Amino acid sequence: MSAAEALPATVGALLAAACERLATPDARLDAELLLAHVLGSTRTQLYARPETTVDAAARASYHALLARRQAGEPVAYLLGRQEFWSLAIVLDGSTLVPRPETELLVELALARVAADVAEVLDLGTGSGAIALALASERPAWRVLGVDCDPAALRLARANAERLALDNVDFAPGDWFAGLQGRCFDLVVANPPYVAEDDPCLAAPGVCREPRHALVAGVDGLDALREIVTRARAHLNLGGWLLCEHGAAQGEALREMFAAAGFAAIATRRDLAGHERVTQGRSAGPFTPSGSAGE
Ligand code: GLN
Repeated sequence: MSAAEALPATVGALLAAACERLATPDARLDAELLLAHVLGSTRTQLYARPETTVDAAARASYHALLARRQAGEPVAYLLGRQEFWSLAIVLDGSTLVPRPETELLVELALARVAADVAEVLDLGTGSGAIALALASERPAWRVLGVDCDPAALRLARANAERLALDNVDFAPGDWFAGLQGRCFDLVVANPPYVAEDDPCLAAPGVCREPRHALVAGVDGLDALREIVTRARAHLNLGGWLLCEHGAAQGEALREMFAAAGFAAIATRRDLAGHERVTQGRSAGPFTPSGSAGE
């Protein structure tokens, strides 16, 4: 008997067996999301008809997904999508899974820039989640997402097409390299910011995400240092820089922003109460040889 044939055959029994097998705090939710995905149904439909029989082919698909989940793959990769800012973002494993706390970056960006028309840059765009959320909220903004990974760019472009957003473009780029002479009203970034030896990198889900999207040097600040140091040369007068960062990096970020000559520096906490996004405004004339730290 194959492992899939050994699984019980009703929705209710399959879910109970899957929970026992996954044995993680989120086991029930994961088991439901994956079974609904296999059956092309909703979680509500699973609740409504737990006695429904599941055929052998669907049980085999479910078994395969549970095995991948047990091996640490994020549920969002198994489903091939993740909701972010009410948009369905398609994923293929080449980028980070968009996190709920990153919605704070979107919220603050929308609140900071009042202009209907604005030039916006999203650095390290990955799946394009942040750029797409901003473009969907502000149809007259022009949003550019850059990423150094061609696979991420393909995914971001496919997401823009699926969401029918035509005010967003994606281009290859290593932070600001390739953007010489270009200035924006708003620059946002959720760059890698995890320290090389951070034990969180071994956590289920995270362990299967691309390391280059998570890790930035010994203290996790390499990418943020580069972005904050170079940003003012790419901001219009009055323009804003908003960066997501780790919970323990707020003070380091405020110091970086101050050294780079930003005004209106402030850090905002996410819903879990962790310092998560630091912002600054390019309020005075920018002099490259001045306090920008280059
Ligand atoms: N917040 C993510 C984590 O801790 C890291 C995201 C990032 O490096 N940009 O898993």
